[in-house]
Amino acid sequence: MVSDEKLVCRGDWHPRDSSRSVPCRLVERSGQIRAVAEDGTELASAVFSTLDISTRVGSIPRRVEFADGSLFETTDNAAIDNLQLTNGRKRTGFVHGLERFHPRLLVFVVAVFLLSGLVYRYALPVLVEVAVAVTPPVVPRLMSISTLETLDRTVLSETKLDDAKRRAISDGFARIAINSTRGPAAYTLNFREGGAIGPNAFALPDGTLIVTDELVGLADGDTEMLIGVLAHEIGHVELEHSLRQIYRAAGMAGLIMLIAGDVGDSAEDLLVQGSGLLALSYSRDAEAAADRHSVELMQEAGYDPAAIARFFEIIEKKLGDKSGTNILSTHPGTPERKQAIRDYEAELRQKASPN
Ligand SMILES: [Zn+2]
Repeated sequence: MVSDEKLVCRGDWHPRDSSRSVPCRLVERSGQIRAVAEDGTELASAVFSTLDISTRVGSIPRRVEFADGSLFETTDNAAIDNLQLTNGRKRTGFVHGLERFHPRLLVFVVAVFLLSGLVYRYALPVLVEVAVAVTPPVVPRLMSISTLETLDRTVLSETKLDDAKRRAISDGFARIAINSTRGPAAYTLNFREGGAIGPNAFALPDGTLIVTDELVGLADGDTEMLIGVLAHEIGHVELEHSLRQIYRAAGMAGLIMLIAGDVGDSAEDLLVQGSGLLALSYSRDAEAAADRHSVELMQEAGYDPAAIARFFEIIEKKLGDKSGTNILSTHPGTPERKQAIRDYEAELRQKASPN
């Protein structure tokens, strides 16, 4: 390397129209960019302004094309952004590209936002439904396996509940699962110590349910209430809420990418890592639908149909308004929600005995 040459980043160089790949460094000296092999051989060289640099899209590797048609490829997005910045070319997101057309900028931006609004309002829900409909069962299965693996490695640990307690909950769970649309074989109930997750119960999209020791502890021996919560979680699975949430998040990330030329780190994490599943909270409508599911399943199994409302009341009293990642932060037991559960119970009761 020439003495005052700066290392931009490392990557691979490909000759023109060849799949051959040579590990190399990209170096810079006052606007002159060179790809140099590890042994010091120059592979390509060009003035910065003649380079064709691909736009940043998430963490997809960046390609820098030299005038001779050869290609340098790297995953070091930050280094390429930096190279562009120091050489006076900004990151080429959609909005950045528009900055050169000042008079029309405002019109463009308004149009883009209007269009995005329309896509979000009308097209996204339809796309999400289509995606859910065509998703083969193996997808939620894989998502769920990787999520549980991640959780077991990071926060969850083996349950410390005794056998009798676990059996009582499992038996009750079997009684409600038998009336579920997917049938009992579609569900597995897992007991874990919650650790940082605390008192909680959640369902993964393939029907894997997890209930934490801490939640069982809070229920204080009232198994029926816990079954009510598990029936609610079955509702989320049957109505494919988490799959919908994931696709909606993916669609949103796509929109953000279109507008800003970049997906934020958190959106990317959400899509790449299964553990992002837990960060998604459901909409109020989804919660209400899962509550009604709980009321139905509990009634069919001969339990107190409003057990889930009872559960919220007791848990709220015990947890107070302590914030954190417990079941109340993802499932706020508002008075309206409890009332809706009781109303639905009354409605079902009337239907069962019309007099
Ligand atoms: Zn819920």
